Order: sequence, then C-alpha cells, then structure tokens
Amino acid sequence: MLAAEVTALYPGRARMRPRPPLTARMLLLKRLLAWFQPDISRPLTQAWLAALWMSLLANWPLWEQLRSLSLGTGFLLAFAGMVTAATGAVLSLLAWPRLIKGVLVLLLLAGAALAYFIGTYGIVFDPSMVVNMVQTDARETRDLLSWRLLANLLVLGALPAWWLLRRPRAPHQAFRHRLGGNLAAFGLGLAAMVLLALSVFATLSSTMRNHKSIRYMVTPLNAVYSVGAVAARNLAGPKGPPAVIGADARLLPRAEGAKPPLLLLVVGETARAMNFSLNGYARPTNPELSRLPATQLFSLGDVTSCGTATAASLPCMFAPQGHSAFDADKPQENLLDVLQRAGLAVLWLDNQSGCKALCDRVPNDFTTQLPAGATPLPAGMCNGEECFDEALLHALDRRIAALDPERLRRGLVLVMHQMGSHGPAYFKRSPPDLKPFQPECRSNELQQCPREQVVNGYDNTLVTTDRLLSRAIAWLQTKQARFDAGMLYVSDHGESLGENGLYLHGMPYAIAPAEQTHVPMILWLPEDGALATSLQPGCLATLRDKPASHDNLFHTVMGWVGARADVYKPEWDLLAGCR
Ligand SMILES: [Zn+2]
Repeated sequence: MLAAEVTALYPGRARMRPRPPLTARMLLLKRLLAWFQPDISRPLTQAWLAALWMSLLANWPLWEQLRSLSLGTGFLLAFAGMVTAATGAVLSLLAWPRLIKGVLVLLLLAGAALAYFIGTYGIVFDPSMVVNMVQTDARETRDLLSWRLLANLLVLGALPAWWLLRRPRAPHQAFRHRLGGNLAAFGLGLAAMVLLALSVFATLSSTMRNHKSIRYMVTPLNAVYSVGAVAARNLAGPKGPPAVIGADARLLPRAEGAKPPLLLLVVGETARAMNFSLNGYARPTNPELSRLPATQLFSLGDVTSCGTATAASLPCMFAPQGHSAFDADKPQENLLDVLQRAGLAVLWLDNQSGCKALCDRVPNDFTTQLPAGATPLPAGMCNGEECFDEALLHALDRRIAALDPERLRRGLVLVMHQMGSHGPAYFKRSPPDLKPFQPECRSNELQQCPREQVVNGYDNTLVTTDRLLSRAIAWLQTKQARFDAGMLYVSDHGESLGENGLYLHGMPYAIAPAEQTHVPMILWLPEDGALATSLQPGCLATLRDKPASHDNLFHTVMGWVGARADVYKPEWDLLAGCR
C-alpha cells in the first residue's frame, strides 16, 4: 500500500506519528562516527586527500608503464601506497591554513599538465626540464597545446581544485597543536613509505635499476623536487659577471697575402645523426649536400652531444671544458668572447628563442629584425611569429657590412642558430614546397599519428636543413675572393621519434637513448682554400669514422680560424691532427 493511500484511509495518522527520540546508545554511535569522519576543512585532511588524488589519478602514465612491466598486483598496490604516503608526507609539512589551498591548487594543475606530457611524449621531469621551460618562448609553448591537454587539466586539475576552494575555512587550532599534527602526519607518511618499500624491496630495487626514468615520473614530487633544486641552485651561487676565459686570446700570424678566415658555424636544432642520408640513412634526406664533391664535404658519423636539450647543450658546446668538466652553475665567458678578444669579427644570427646568453657580448641579431635598407623577407618566409630557417640567409651581406671593418679584415665567425627540427610540430618547420615525404603528421600530438607520418614530418625538416646548408655553402662560395671560407654544422642534440614509446628529447643524459645524443656534424672546406691546402691530403676523410663530440667544437673552431689562448687544447681540435 502506498503512503498516499495510507494517508487517505487514516487521515492524520502519518502526520501525527512523532519522530522517536535518540536513545543514549544511538547518540554514542553518532559521536563515534563523527570522530572517524575526517573534517575536510582541516588543512591536513585536504593535503592527504589531494595526495591520494594526485598519486592515483595524475600518475596515470606511471601506472600504465608499471602495468606494462607485469610486476604483479601486489607490487603495484605497494608502489601506489608508497607514492601516496610520500606525497602526503611532503604535503603535511605545508598543511597550514593560509598556505595549503594555494599550494594544492598549483600542484593539482601542474600535476595534470605533467600527466599529459609524460603520458603523451614519454618525457620525464627533472631539474633540466625546469630550465628548458623557463627559457622557452611563447611560440614553442603554443606548439605543445592541444585539446587533450585541456581535458587533462580540467578533469585532473581544475575539478579537484574547484572542489577544494569551496571547502569552508579551517577551524581555529593553536599553532603548537597544528605543528604537532603536521609533523606527526609527516612522520607517519614517511614510516608507511619505508615499510611498504621494504615489503617489496627486491622487485623495487631491480625495477628502479632497470627503469631509471620511473623515478622522474612520480607526479607531483618530480615537480616539487625539480623546481626546488633549480631554485636552490639559483639562490646559492653569487651571480656576478661571467668569469673571464682565454684572457690571452690572440691570432696566429697569417702568411703574406693570405685571405682572412670566414667560418660559418651553423648550430642545428634537434637533428639526429641517424636520419641523415650522409650518415647512411636509407631515405634521401640530404639530396643537395650529397651532390657536393667528397673532397669538400665531410659528414662525421659518430658525434655525441653534450646534453639532450638546448639549454643544457648550447653553453657546454661553446665552453672549453667539455661534457665531463663543464659546470653550468659557474657563469663564464664562451668561445665567442674568446674569438672576439683575439680580434675577429663575430656575429650571432638567431632564428630561434635566443642564444642562451652566449651572444650577450658580441653583435647579434634575429632573423625577424632586418638591417636598415634591406629588402623585405620574401612572402611566405615568415608568418608573423616565426620564420623558416632560410631567412638566416637573407640580407647577410648587409648584416656583415655593419660589423667593425678592422675586425673583418682579420676574419669573421658567423653563427647561425636554426629552428631546425624543433618538435613536436615538425610539419611547421618545412616550407610547403619542401615536403618530399608524405603523408606527414599534421598534429603536435605525435602519438595520435601513425609512426611513419611522424618520421615523414621529421625527415622533411632535415631536407629543409639540407637545403639551408647547401644554399649557405653557395653563399660562402661567393665570398671566396675575399675570405678563406668554410662551414661547420652541428646539431645541439637529437630526438626520439617513438622508439620505446619515447618522443622529443630532454631525457636525463645518463639514461638518454642514442637517438637523443647522437648528432650530425658536417664540415665544408673547399679544397682550394688556404686552410684545406695547409692540411695533409686525404686526412680530413679519416674524420668521417672517428668518434667526436661537442667537446671538440670550441677547440676545432679556434684552430680553424687561427686563434689561440691558454684554454685551447690542440688534442681536442679535430683538424690539428691533419696539420
Ligand atoms: Zn635544442
């Protein structure tokens, strides 16, 4: 019988029945339940709820990776517990009424974005990634935005953040009590993490040893650690002017009537050695350079980079110390300062996000800034935000004419900093008339494209670089009446194109795959030039198979243009062995 019918049959009865009073036993039960029910306005509760959310959900790439390793459900549960306990422990220290909500909102959003990038590109987050992020520019960032990123941000970050911001204000608690509670929660979290780690120790230690990148995947602790490490580094070091290197820089005397050197140093971007047909790649990615005589063009097939990201590689490439001894935290002058001190003209021309402070004390320019009186860039060369690399060749004579004539008489080192193969939007880096490999991936979400299309888009960028270098050489040939011209091209680091699920670059160097650390290096030296004739015949060809690295760059350039300083090491000069 329905309630409405009961009311109709016995009018007044349903309304009149009184609520039974709470018995003493029920009151006790209710109080007990309230004691177990966490008060979500408390900072500590919020910290642990957020820790649970981020550990379990914002770490979806981590759980996917661990699941693929088939380590068993027990291990997965223990690892999830460890991540939650560690995150909760760290956040407990920050569980203060005026602080916690802001911290959690920031971490929830950062964790959501990280989940997307780690899951989509297989990148890991370490201190050098923070440096890359700080040094990047708007167009590089725009290349990374997508709807799936927005979805991750909304669901994993904004949704819990919105919920959190609507919680009532924390009840008052004495400072002493709150500190005690936070420290106790920190200790308990740490203890839980250690106990869980011990319970699966054998599997844990072997997994961490064999899959080193996993430790950088734990979100948001990776972000907290990396940002903290970079901040500490920046606060610690006194930031004075860069230390002087090569104070005794000078030029070797030139033979009577010999032309001054003109070295074009092309700093490539994200080009990997194995995709150059000059290095044996099966597809014709070097159609123009391959046509140059083998007596002039030398592609070195075994060159390793100094870092796996621009921000790490560039300063190291231009330093004399080499990969093992270079310390990025100690600001010092670089190759360009030494060349300039020796008396040469130096010009840095940039088609990217800048020179990472390398060109601070030498003449420098962007492709988008044309010298006075220059003809405008051809239509389609630039889109208002960025230019194709061939813009580097535009108005060159005018740019050079603006340099100090006294220095020019002694020689010129011209650096071109390419946009090269910068990803993930490879398709933006090759002009419409230079896309021989089809179809190419037209998305910045590389995992959404078939791998062949990703490689097509990437290889098209290399064909674009091939044409740039070949046209640069043609320009150098027009300067041979005045200069002893030559070119040295080298990329800053390589790129992963989906090998083992990895994309892009920036892996910690010690665990980076060869795709990211093996870079192309190409020398062009016309055989009738003064430098080439001063070398033993046939000697340059032996360089093709000799291992080399970014360590050689500083010293090879110094030797190439006849500059000397106390920091010059002939044993690292690739040409010294041929003199
Ligand atoms: Zn780079």
